Amino acid sequence: MLASKKHLFFDLDRTLWDFETNSVDTFKDIFQLFNLQQLGVQDFEQALETYRSINDHLWDEYREGIISKDFLNVERFHQTLLSFKINNRQLAYDIAQRYIRISPTKTALFEGTHEILSYLKKGNYNLHIITNGFPEVQHVKLQYSDLRKYFTALIISEEVGWKKPSPEIFRKALEMAEATVDESVMIGDDPIVDIQGATDIGMEAIFVNHHQEPFCDFCKYQVNHLLHLKDLF
Ligand SMILES: [Mg+2]
Repeated sequence: MLASKKHLFFDLDRTLWDFETNSVDTFKDIFQLFNLQQLGVQDFEQALETYRSINDHLWDEYREGIISKDFLNVERFHQTLLSFKINNRQLAYDIAQRYIRISPTKTALFEGTHEILSYLKKGNYNLHIITNGFPEVQHVKLQYSDLRKYFTALIISEEVGWKKPSPEIFRKALEMAEATVDESVMIGDDPIVDIQGATDIGMEAIFVNHHQEPFCDFCKYQVNHLLHLKDLF
């Protein structure tokens, strides 16, 4: 039934591109580049933990529209430095600039990413991306990870003006890919953003559950590994 579809829309972050691994890797680079240890940030793991919790909190505020993207970018490092008694907004700004430049050049992908995309492409499926993110960042990720070649349409939230799970971005994606809802499937790691969003407009969707989180009860299709998509297509 899914095998007869023509257009497959993939989410990028945490579905194909390993956001967590790439973030830790970038944070390591930053730690060294800015000599944070000499400045008083003794423990890398502790700094990473602190940064994560601050970053998560600020992302929630950004999603709710309370703070801007620019504020988020600098503030997450400013607050992290403050927790180590370093009050230096200029340093936070410099780190933020560097972080944004380095992070999308990281290339860790989930196991089987290239294999499954090649397989689907050979099977004559049209592949597209629908991602919540900033164009200047998402394009770099696709380029450095050598993923661009698989995809026809790229739908990036900050470029089209809507974020998943809003129905508008899915409708816009269909229009850009010249696809109908009946011949399309969304494939992503977030039950609300990707799965609920797609099914709200009547599109089938597959939940990619990399971390074996509890089963999503409204998700009709689920895989625990990208290569298991071969069982469906
Ligand atoms: Mg995702």
